Amino acid sequence: MIDRVIPLIDQRQASQARVRRMASAPQGSPTGRLLDALGRPLRDLRISVTDRCNFRCSYCMPKEVFDKDYRYLPHSALLTFEEITRLTRVFIAHGVRKVRLTGGEPLLRKNLETLIEQLAALRTLDGQPLDLTLTTNGSLLTRKAALLKAAGLQRVTVSLDGLDDAVFRRMNDVDFPVADVLQGIAAAQEAGLGPIKVNMVVKRGTNDDQILPMARHFQGSGIVVRFIEYMDVGATNGWRMDEVLPSAEVVRRIAAEMPLVPLEPAAPGETAERWGYAGPDGRHDPQLGEIGVISSVTQAFCRDCNRARLSTEGKVYLCLFAHEGHDLRELLRSGASDDALASAIATIWQGRQDRYSELRASLPPETATGKRRVEMSYIGG
Ligand code: SF4
Repeated sequence: MIDRVIPLIDQRQASQARVRRMASAPQGSPTGRLLDALGRPLRDLRISVTDRCNFRCSYCMPKEVFDKDYRYLPHSALLTFEEITRLTRVFIAHGVRKVRLTGGEPLLRKNLETLIEQLAALRTLDGQPLDLTLTTNGSLLTRKAALLKAAGLQRVTVSLDGLDDAVFRRMNDVDFPVADVLQGIAAAQEAGLGPIKVNMVVKRGTNDDQILPMARHFQGSGIVVRFIEYMDVGATNGWRMDEVLPSAEVVRRIAAEMPLVPLEPAAPGETAERWGYAGPDGRHDPQLGEIGVISSVTQAFCRDCNRARLSTEGKVYLCLFAHEGHDLRELLRSGASDDALASAIATIWQGRQDRYSELRASLPPETATGKRRVEMSYIGG
């Protein structure tokens, strides 16, 4: 298939009305691989299927904000599985190859297997199945792993912020035992949902003493632990720079006990920097496996960011730190054709120049702008 780049349209301040106008503008066939305003392709779509979670991790859904009075989206506001699948098909026509289901906790969405079946049947522009994955807190994996695999899910990423039960219970803030998540990971491995990744958000002074136990526990297991710098996502997590433990320090601590060698990225736009465990000859020993570090605070990787995020209620966000999304649900529910949806997505992506992590240090504080970043539980991490 010949790549076709649709002419650049500056849509930085895209209002919903302008998106609608673009959707209805005659453009010929609106499909084709896209580049954003900074030349980045669209490859990766993260779809949030629920804004609810059964954990209350302080960096994501702190209890003080997400309490019993918090108003979640009503069911009617959520995209249906058919709407998600239809939009995904249109995104694929623009070059998306990888879909990650997120939340909230995606396994809380009823009958999620049905959506996975629908997505697994789609094919990329090259005629391949999607790289179809899901990020979960692992609490329901023991029950669901085999069902998810049977529905066509390829792999899972499990969030796990420590192995010490007391630390883990404190971090999830709902007293959930770590043993149950480890059992879920084992169930996912048994079901063949691999290679499994485990994501650990590292917060200095809170769980950084868990870095080495996590590395030791998963070394040689076939599971890749990725250590993520604590980020200023959303508007409610009370982020402070002095609680960020730089990835370089994570690598230094692990390498002091288990020697590491740098590895090449597995795919363009990969968020994690890869480090392999070295064998006695000083070279990477695949049997020992590898770790990843995600340094979005100390080493921004916006230059290669090829991710779009679709919120639970059908808004496209172009950055994890965005303030506003672009509403596709309204288009969907007003009877827009696939061509109109494709034009709208093209317009939105071609106007994208988000690169928050690269600009973080030079931006005014949110309090000065009066804008609030969207919560991670709403658009997925
Ligand atoms: S800050 Fe935004 S643009 Fe940069 S890597 Fe993260 S999501 Fe992508």
